[in-house]
Amino acid sequence: MNIKLAMIFVLALIVGPASWLLVNYLSADQLPVFAVISLWLNSLVILFWLIKRNQQSEPNNLEQEQIFDLQPSSQPESSELELELEAKIQERTFELNIALQELEQANQELAELNTRDELSGLYNRRYYNQKITAEFRRCKRNLTPLSLIIVDIDHFKNINDQYGHQVGDLCIETVAKHIQSYMKRISDVGCRYGGEEFCLILPDTELAGAVALAENIRQKVPVINYQEQQIAVHVSCGISCYQQEQDASPDMLFAAADKALYKAKQQGRNQVQQLAISELESQ
Ligand code: GH3
Ligand code: MG
Ligand code: MG
Repeated sequence: MNIKLAMIFVLALIVGPASWLLVNYLSADQLPVFAVISLWLNSLVILFWLIKRNQQSEPNNLEQEQIFDLQPSSQPESSELELELEAKIQERTFELNIALQELEQANQELAELNTRDELSGLYNRRYYNQKITAEFRRCKRNLTPLSLIIVDIDHFKNINDQYGHQVGDLCIETVAKHIQSYMKRISDVGCRYGGEEFCLILPDTELAGAVALAENIRQKVPVINYQEQQIAVHVSCGISCYQQEQDASPDMLFAAADKALYKAKQQGRNQVQQLAISELESQ
């Protein structure tokens, strides 16, 4: 097309000056005839150019047929593929969601296993360590008291020796259930610290409240029924309460409760004793 346009342009270049020369040699009565002929020739050239332009912009029949042939078959194919792909994505997303839910549940179970003591069903020592630190910080921030009770089964070794370790285990289970039944507030936490020792974390609880709770636990320990025998079980309790003492720590709270427990053992067992964090040094 560019070549043809160039040719038309060259023709116009030749025709223009030639017409000018002709006009100069023609007489006045010949001029209108010449003007009509040149107008006619110009119209022809423009018509020719327009036809060529139209042919170029419109696709030829074969191409059109190909396009029309392609369109009916290719459109449904691509939409079918899209639908199939969408269905597969939905299916995979659904499967992935189920897998994620299962994973989350497994993680929760694992976390629960990590924090629970198998024999007693109470929280384990690992959990105690995390929880006492967290509650200590919270009570310090909120200016509220935090009480800790350590419960220890008296002469437990004797129970093991006399009735066997299975009865010893049963004894631990029974005392643990008994302790758990006293964990009334949602923030109260019962842990098995080790062996036949239990730690009770009581946030927002004054010393008097903790003493009352420990007394209840001590006085109502159930007897163990074993082969038609009734085995009496006793416990000793040591208590301390954090009351915003300066430079106090969770370890100091435990040390004070442990010393109070030692005092209870020393003074004959089956009793509750208390010690303030401030009294730690003097003991
Ligand atoms: P005290 O009155 O001074 O507390 O004396 P105790 O006999 O209760 O304490 P001691 O520390 O002398 O003995 C604790 C025993 O508990 C020793 C250990 O073998 C036993 N024990 C520790 N863990 C378990 C357990 O999970 N199951 C059983 N059956 N016995 C355990
Ligand atoms: Mg003991
Ligand atoms: Mg002990």
